[in-house]
Amino acid sequence: LALIVQKYGGSSVADTEKIKNVAQRVVKTRSAGNDVVVVVSAMGKTTDRLISLAKEIVADPPKREMDMLLATGEQQSIALLAMAVMTQGYDAISFTGPQVGIVTDGFYSNARIKSINEQKILEEVKKGKIVIVAGFQGVTIDNHITTLGRGGSDTTAVAIAAALKADMCDIYTDVDGVYTADPRVVPNARKLEVISYNEMLEMASLGAKVLHSRAVELAKKFRVPLRVLSSFNESEGTVIQEETESMEEIVVSGVTSNKNQAKISLLSMPDKPGIAAQVFQAIAQENISIDMIVQNISEHGMTTLSFTVPKDDLNRALNVAQRIKDDIGAAEIEFDDKIAEVSVVGIGMRSHAGIAARMFQALAEENINVQMISTSEIKISCIIDEELMERAVKVIHDKFEPGRN
Ligand code: ASP
Ligand code: MG
Repeated sequence: LALIVQKYGGSSVADTEKIKNVAQRVVKTRSAGNDVVVVVSAMGKTTDRLISLAKEIVADPPKREMDMLLATGEQQSIALLAMAVMTQGYDAISFTGPQVGIVTDGFYSNARIKSINEQKILEEVKKGKIVIVAGFQGVTIDNHITTLGRGGSDTTAVAIAAALKADMCDIYTDVDGVYTADPRVVPNARKLEVISYNEMLEMASLGAKVLHSRAVELAKKFRVPLRVLSSFNESEGTVIQEETESMEEIVVSGVTSNKNQAKISLLSMPDKPGIAAQVFQAIAQENISIDMIVQNISEHGMTTLSFTVPKDDLNRALNVAQRIKDDIGAAEIEFDDKIAEVSVVGIGMRSHAGIAARMFQALAEENINVQMISTSEIKISCIIDEELMERAVKVIHDKFEPGRN
């Protein structure tokens, strides 16, 4: 007898027919003799709709009230799913996040889970019930409702699986699993049977949208066996697990892309100690995180410093740059928000040389200019012109044929 946590995303519970279909799957797992705890997202585009309702009232809604509002989406889907399960002759009970003691910190709209009252869930499981928990939400110790950030239901599911020491955490979605690239961009992208936590973590933070990156982080930390699979068919899905030696034979597991960054350049500033420290201290004080940094070689004692920041923080970062411009002696500030980051990810890179060269070769053959580069042990990212993003992903994918070499 296994304890299985299943999570169903918004598209899997988008209407009542789909909710009935999910109920069938839940019941099937239960009737095979497993204990089942289910986490659901809000139905379809509910969260988006709630956000636009709030914005009809005020452009920048107060965060506490926003979380109060958004948490209602998941409260609908848990109740409907519980009803659907009961209709099929199985006992079920739904709970909001606060009801099962999903305690978070107080960062509205991006709260982190601190603890879960797993006893409360287990009590009901022991009574033979299918327990259905609202994803994406929690409560602070002083009783304010919070949400975990867009896509946060994945994180709820993994956190519950970790707290219950579940045998498996299955994330059901509208795609078959984790692909070597976005199949809408690369038609011959392949589904991966297995991928390591570390690769999935990179892919999720570099643009693969299939899993919330904090969910992967948690799964890795608590070694939760994780699987991504479709709620619409019986395909095997992708297992996300600890690395094995044979996984290293595959050099590149995936190619990802995103348009989340913008580039700022400080032109022609004196190349002397302390300048970079001054720039990045000022940016850090604004709580803006920097991804890539490039400093050109100096000419006549002057250099150009470029770095990327999240697009949402561009204006604030430009204000900082403007403020310190004279202090650091920069001649000019430039920015570019029409850039894209394209990355290859794979733990096999650790033991294979020449991956960067092949990536740049693929881009060069298409005449795509690389503006910035950043590498880690298991990924290489390039900043290129936003318009060339899809082509870049395709040619890089062709070059590496991920999962096959
Ligand atoms: N309903 C929330 C969202 O749309 C959480 C989730 O779906 O995971 O972001
Ligand atoms: Mg989601």
